[in-house]
Amino acid sequence: MDEHMSGDGLTMVPIGTDFPEIRDAVRAICKNFPGEYWRKLEDTGDYAKEFVQALTDAGFLSALIPESYGGSGLPLRAGGAILEEIHAMGCEGTSCHAQMYMMGMLVRHGTAAQKDKYLPDIASGKLRYQSFGVTEPTTGSDTLNLKTRAVRDGDHYVVNGQKVWTSRAKHSDLMSLLVRTTPSDQLKRRTDGLSVLLVDIREAVNNGLTIRPIETMLNHQTNELFFENLRVPVENLIGEEGKGFRIILDGMNSERILVAHESLGDARFFINKAVNYAKERIVFGRPIGQNQGIQFPLARAYAEWRSADLMARTGAALYQAGQPCGEEANLTKLLSAEAAWNAAEACLQTHGGFGVAREYDVERKWRNARMQRVAPISTNLILAYIAHGVLGLPKSY
Ligand SMILES: Cc1cc2nc3c(=O)[nH]c(=O)nc-3n(C[C@H](O)[C@H](O)[C@H](O)COP(=O)(O)OP(=O)(O)OC[C@H]3O[C@@H](n4cnc5c(N)ncnc54)[C@H](O)[C@@H]3O)c2cc1C
Repeated sequence: MDEHMSGDGLTMVPIGTDFPEIRDAVRAICKNFPGEYWRKLEDTGDYAKEFVQALTDAGFLSALIPESYGGSGLPLRAGGAILEEIHAMGCEGTSCHAQMYMMGMLVRHGTAAQKDKYLPDIASGKLRYQSFGVTEPTTGSDTLNLKTRAVRDGDHYVVNGQKVWTSRAKHSDLMSLLVRTTPSDQLKRRTDGLSVLLVDIREAVNNGLTIRPIETMLNHQTNELFFENLRVPVENLIGEEGKGFRIILDGMNSERILVAHESLGDARFFINKAVNYAKERIVFGRPIGQNQGIQFPLARAYAEWRSADLMARTGAALYQAGQPCGEEANLTKLLSAEAAWNAAEACLQTHGGFGVAREYDVERKWRNARMQRVAPISTNLILAYIAHGVLGLPKSY
């Protein structure tokens, strides 16, 4: 056990020993954004721009950009530690987390010209790179079947199609967009034919791109996107034409590992909050936490959180070393989301009726923790990956 405790005033659960200065600094920022800030945003449907600005100013959103481009050049695990602390403090990293995982795509697969053009401005906060357009309404989880088409016309691609659930598109300057550059029936390999384009949203809106917000049970700033003859310069192609699926998979591994850290932070939030409440709430003349019906779900949630934390460290280390990490990224995402959800359930149940009172922030975090079992990848698809890709069972699709 580490004696470095979470500084959120709810100090039951120890936190990781790594990056203590970063964790302290993130928590110091988060203290300025308490539950009432997030509740008010839910009331108005507004984007957490003050919170994102504070993180940008402190350099946390450019943590993974190499120092030569103005970032901090930190490893993926440091990005995870930042997101974990944000969530352990009751804040929401979903307002800006994409910037961290998409950076890897640009850094690993972008041309020197693309990196020179974009990375310094992203690092300084002048440009926001928060949007990732993959999912489509008619194909969903079946990414290899996506339909949004980009056809070469001189030194441009002309894009037509539709995306759904493209988060933060209204609060981002740049977007990574996965498009089909070769029709499916002309492919030798099913995994070819897709390409990644860097779209400048500022130029695209009203010039072939329409963004329509989707109302959800969360304040997630997510949208439908419609493309009608949007022209994207060929120089904005990231990596090789037709090889975009591999680039996206690489990006998805870092996304899964980073987003899993948010769930680890959520689990800490719920366990801390529930344990403190269980000690203080007196019913039948004794603390409710004296009852094993209250204790055991919390003890189990704690055990699940600790195991998920170990897998997250493994996944992040493999990614950093450039080793294959698909299995670990998926296991990390699965275990963290499950640990957070079980902790959320235990926390809400521990609070009895107060669990659904908005001022406790339990129900807000509970709704957000639930989403981690659906997006960015649903639990079933992770289990299918483990079954087919790791255990070698026959493919179900
Ligand atoms: C709030 C929110 C934000 C999002 N942000 C983004 C974003 O920024 N960018 C982006 O590209 N996408 C985003 N997504 C999309 C998200 O990645 C998808 O919702 C998710 O991948 C599932 O796709 P789907 O909703 O189309 O479900 P479907 O693919 O229709 O699946 C529906 C259900 O069926 C199950 N299922 C489907 N096929 C199988 C199978 N073969 N075996 C077993 N079960 C199966 C799934 O697991 C799921 O439970 C977001 C989604 C949400 C809700």
